[in-house]
Amino acid sequence: MSRKQIINQLKKSRRVLLCSHIHPDGDAIGSLIGMGLALKEMGKDIWIYNESPVPAIYHFLPSIHRIKHHPGEIGTYDTVVVMDCSDLHRIGDAAGAVNRIPIIINIDHHITNTRFGSFQLIDPDASASAEIVFRLIKAMKIKITPAIAYAIYTGIMTDTGSFRFANTNPEAFDICHEMVRLGADPHKVAHHVYETISLSRIKLLTMLFDTIELTKNSNMSIMTLTQNMLRETGTRIQDVNGLINYAKAIENVKVAALLYERAKEKSRLIDESHFHISLRSDGSVDVAKIAASFGGGGHTRAAGFDIQGSLPALKKELYELSDRL
Ligand code: 5GP
Ligand code: MN
Repeated sequence: MSRKQIINQLKKSRRVLLCSHIHPDGDAIGSLIGMGLALKEMGKDIWIYNESPVPAIYHFLPSIHRIKHHPGEIGTYDTVVVMDCSDLHRIGDAAGAVNRIPIIINIDHHITNTRFGSFQLIDPDASASAEIVFRLIKAMKIKITPAIAYAIYTGIMTDTGSFRFANTNPEAFDICHEMVRLGADPHKVAHHVYETISLSRIKLLTMLFDTIELTKNSNMSIMTLTQNMLRETGTRIQDVNGLINYAKAIENVKVAALLYERAKEKSRLIDESHFHISLRSDGSVDVAKIAASFGGGGHTRAAGFDIQGSLPALKKELYELSDRL
């Protein structure tokens, strides 16, 4: 489906819901705000939604207060734009209701995208979903305000790990250059994203480092984050984005895994623990494939999935996986 058809549709749309994945990262948040404000500039009635709280490091973004944590009146929307979600369920509990909105526009850069929705704009070569959003805004000839510039810049900067990850492409630099010209202050973004760490987060880091183990052949590192550790340090899951990169930085490690124990409320009907497993690869292993085999998804180098089971059983499974790498 071409970008032109999406633009034609958006021109006709009146009341638009904007969604992205639960536990949003900088790209999910940047895409939401960038696209939301652009549609507002076009005179659309918008509602920006995310199920989870916005991590404190993103509270500085202009218009961040526009992200609501309830999806509003689903029956009133003619269109929904879903960003940075490889499948619709990634938006969380509202997925079923959102699926009933007449027009669903799917904007994403995950190679595992299921191509859900009425229109798709999917580019696995894009550095971030915010890059695709930027191109759409440009094609619609909408003025990029400083608030939009901050959102797009933050989306691309965080998803490329500050222009270090393998998805860093020439466009990432071109677009960010333009965003800086249009009002995004790189120091301000970096300060909030990287230099506002709380002492409790540092305490959590030391605990987390203590859990790191390497498999027999040292090609996989495993880190474990339990609800107890969050409780003891007084941290919340939204404060711990990106910690898996430490496990990935260990020499000779091909795949890093972070086992995150989900809060009990979400899994009270089952006896076993419920974990989210984040995977990162050095590029020699396709972790999107591994995640997909467990019902999740993502990119070649960064993927994840949810699974039930005891910690020892999950670790055993990862050790077996490591033998096959
Ligand atoms: P993270 O490990 O940070 O949760 O996710 C890494 C990447 O994998 C992200 O791009 C994210 O969108 C994707 N991902 C993580 N968990 C899931 C999941 O349960 N399902 C799918 N489809 N993708 C996931
Ligand atoms: Mn992304």
